[in-house]
Amino acid sequence: MSLRKHDNFESARQAASALIKKFAIADPSEIVVEDIAMAQGVLVLEGKLRGCEARLVRRKDRGIIRVRDDIQSDGRKKFAVAHELGHWELHGDISQFHVCTETDLRNYSGSNPEIEANTFAGELLMPSSLLRPLCRSIEPSLSAIKNLAEKFATSLTVSAIRFVEEQRENCIVVLSENGRVAWWRTKDKDNSSGLWIDSKQKIHQDSAAWECFHDGIVATKMQRVPTVAWFQDLRYQRRMEVYEQSMKLGTYSGVLTLLWILGD
Ligand SMILES: [Zn+2]
Repeated sequence: MSLRKHDNFESARQAASALIKKFAIADPSEIVVEDIAMAQGVLVLEGKLRGCEARLVRRKDRGIIRVRDDIQSDGRKKFAVAHELGHWELHGDISQFHVCTETDLRNYSGSNPEIEANTFAGELLMPSSLLRPLCRSIEPSLSAIKNLAEKFATSLTVSAIRFVEEQRENCIVVLSENGRVAWWRTKDKDNSSGLWIDSKQKIHQDSAAWECFHDGIVATKMQRVPTVAWFQDLRYQRRMEVYEQSMKLGTYSGVLTLLWILGD
């Protein structure tokens, strides 16, 4: 990963963190994105939108975020607003008008303003100052992540990403679609561990995710899987144990996987 990409992520995170400090937020219940947006000069409205989830219109120091009123989950709606607020805070010099699709809101691969807006939203909704102490006292599992999602009223995917980022343990979150890896995130943005999952890698039959895709399993237990199930190039190079828990995501045909790597 290039230094520039890292810097962009970091500045997105810092911008969200600055707002948490500015409004002296000390509890997840105080993170009301519409109120934070309003204080920053942006009005949030719900309404009918076609072909996108949310959009931001900027005129000088005032803005309007419009979010689709038929987004089913409150967590996803909240994330869409936080994402647009990210564009407001970070990308005034790029565009006065952002139209963001569902794909943009799930984009965590590559480097572009959408990922910066997603990084901003993740930090705003689940700030390190509140999340880190919680993450560091619990063992990695999807049920721990579910509990955090409830506490912060965020989606499971965003909660999984933030959990992995704030964990002491070596964990990776993977989202797969149609039997292939769509994207993955580790806590270490520079990925100094050297672990690598190929983009679009096919889901291996020895993985728990395979069971979700092919055997009709909704959610697996945390279980040890062969290293090769996820890290095909490293089979003979590393001595490590890979534990995996996977579950189907209800809202679309995705599978969310938490990997917990033990060993070197
Ligand atoms: Zn966007």
